[in-house]
Formats: sequence, C-alpha cells, structure tokens
Amino acid sequence: MKNTKKVKKAENLKAQKAPKTEKVDGLGKKDILKIRSAIRQVWHRSHPRKLCVQRAVGKNGFLFCEKCTKRVPKIYVDHKQKVGDIDGGFIHRLFCPSTELQALCKKCHDAKTKQERQDAAWEKVLGVE
Ligand SMILES: [Zn+2]
Repeated sequence: MKNTKKVKKAENLKAQKAPKTEKVDGLGKKDILKIRSAIRQVWHRSHPRKLCVQRAVGKNGFLFCEKCTKRVPKIYVDHKQKVGDIDGGFIHRLFCPSTELQALCKKCHDAKTKQERQDAAWEKVLGVE
C-alpha cells in the first residue's frame, strides 16, 4: 500500500512539472522568443540605430537624452511606435528609419516601457485591438 502511494505521489509531481519542460513539435512559444531576440540582435547593429545614437551625441562628445535633454552615461534607443509581437509587420516596425527612433535615458525609457505595458494590459482586459 505504502509503495503505491509513493508511486502515485511521484506521478502527480511529474504531471505538475510537465507543462514547464514540455517540448513542442513544431514552432513553440520558446522558439518565437528566441527568434524575436535573434532579430533584435541584428537590429542592434543596424544603421538606423547607429544614426540615432549619433544624434544623441552632443558637441562635447557626451550623450544626451532626447526627451529630458539631460546628460547621461548610457543611451537606450527606443521605437516611437511600439514594435510589439512577431507578426507580418514585425521586421518593418523594428527596422524603421532613424527618424522613428529616439535616444532616451534609462529613466525616460523605463517610464515609456511601463506605460506601453500598462496600455497593452488594458487593451487585453477591454478586448481592444
Ligand atoms: Zn531622459
């Protein structure tokens, strides 16, 4: 009796853990995330992004945020229009002209990202596209 209980308990644990490590035959969620990250890596070395970073360099060689105009040690290149998930227009939205990009400081970039995530969450709740 005791043994069967132990076996059942072990099976239950396996069943609970299964969804996390489940392999998908074909294109899975993890694959999509990997592909998205790989494409973003290519964008990171792209010309439009470099142009945007150049724009943020002031006369004295320091970097400046394009929103709050403060001098910053590091710049975050942001898409004015949200890039979003992988779909038919993903690559075109990601590789937009440098005029559609803005160089922001961490504070401004985090604030914008937070706002975008909140908006997306509301859209999901309200069912708006
Ligand atoms: Zn800023």
